[in-house]
Amino acid sequence: MALSFDVVVIGAGPAGYVGAIRAAQLGFATACVDDWKNEKGEYLLGGTCLNVGCIPSKALLESSENYERVAHKFAAHGIAVTGAKMDVRKMQARKDKIVSQLTGGIATLFRKNKVTWLKGRGRLIAGAASERYRIDISGGAGAETVAATNVVIATGSTPRELPGVPVDNDLICDNAGALAFGEVPKRLGVIGAGVIGLELGSVWRRLGAKVTILEALPTFLAACDDAVSREAWKVFTKEQGLDIRLGVKIGKVSTGKRIVKVEFADGEGQKAVEFDKLVVSVGRVPNSVNFGAAALGLKIDDRGFIEVDAHCRTNLPKVYAVGDVVRGPMLAHKGMDEGVMVAEHIASQAGHVDLDVIPWVIYTAPEIAWVGKTEQQLRADGTAYRMGQVPFLANG
Ligand code: FAD
Repeated sequence: MALSFDVVVIGAGPAGYVGAIRAAQLGFATACVDDWKNEKGEYLLGGTCLNVGCIPSKALLESSENYERVAHKFAAHGIAVTGAKMDVRKMQARKDKIVSQLTGGIATLFRKNKVTWLKGRGRLIAGAASERYRIDISGGAGAETVAATNVVIATGSTPRELPGVPVDNDLICDNAGALAFGEVPKRLGVIGAGVIGLELGSVWRRLGAKVTILEALPTFLAACDDAVSREAWKVFTKEQGLDIRLGVKIGKVSTGKRIVKVEFADGEGQKAVEFDKLVVSVGRVPNSVNFGAAALGLKIDDRGFIEVDAHCRTNLPKVYAVGDVVRGPMLAHKGMDEGVMVAEHIASQAGHVDLDVIPWVIYTAPEIAWVGKTEQQLRADGTAYRMGQVPFLANG
């Protein structure tokens, strides 16, 4: 007989593991299935965020910011440092240790809260008469099937691919590759000036790379308030030396022995630039098709997101979806909130998430954060507003 659970969560990223723990705390027999493996073939919890996203990027941002302070900023404070050197291997080892402590921490939380960790890829199928759903788990210790009354899909997202720019995570990298460079590339190209491109570009620029960011959109940080993106543009390009090109159309991308050549067109005409590494960060796509639910009639919108209502209910009874795989900002804390809401909803409590008050943040220096609507959104909506600005400079 298949093991049976009140709640099975598919995916153990921030949305899934937090939802699973909350469901267990509310008294439900809960399991969480995840297929994330490291290069040694060990299963790890935490999803994108802990393994190749928020946590490692923030670790490298801190290391590189410390280095930049020592190398370029301490002198103005009268602190003379000679011979400061960056040991990239040591920086990466620190980052890896942080990641493994935190992923291990989730395993401990699962044990403490009695969440069963199922290792492998989950596939949702209809259940037999006495149960609602079954989840086939493959790739773990052996094939296994569990039964579930409620299912929470938290399968997250993966990097969007750019046609003609195949990621090999050696010369052409996605976020995972860009977080693992063994040395500082002399010339780094980044396609995409979104949050991930700016954060990763900043890390390697601070450590000495000449960074060129190629962005298709004609505007910089369009999601941000106009005044903030104008200020950020000045700081990143003029003060920090990030070479950001807007309105770029990427042409042929070819690799040589140790170089990547990118042909592109921008307002100035046709160009060809060589890089030692190229990072592709052009957004992320929801993982909405890898768990077999289409056969059950799960509704997916035309952008690939699982359709949900305000309480993250899908069109299938007792099947919920949370995190990057559904609409709304692709941010860890948004997924976590949705995970908690769904667990509370299953327990007939009144959890809810207001997407309009999820904070956004970009961990550049200076960091950029905002919450609620931007001025340009209010203008576009025709909403009356009053605007105020307080420059940090005015703050003693
Ligand atoms: P994921 O974290 O993507 O987890 C999904 C999990 O489900 C994965 O482990 C996957 O292997 C597993 N899975 C998928 N399909 C199956 C299946 N069929 N069976 C079993 N398991 C499956 N957000 C922030 O809020 N702050 C930040 O600072 C930040 N920095 C970021 C930096 C980078 C470089 C990147 C790439 C992202 C960053 N994000 C940040 C975004 C954040 O990582 C995501 O919003 C978050 O991870 C989404 O959580 P999730 O649980 O929905 O999905």
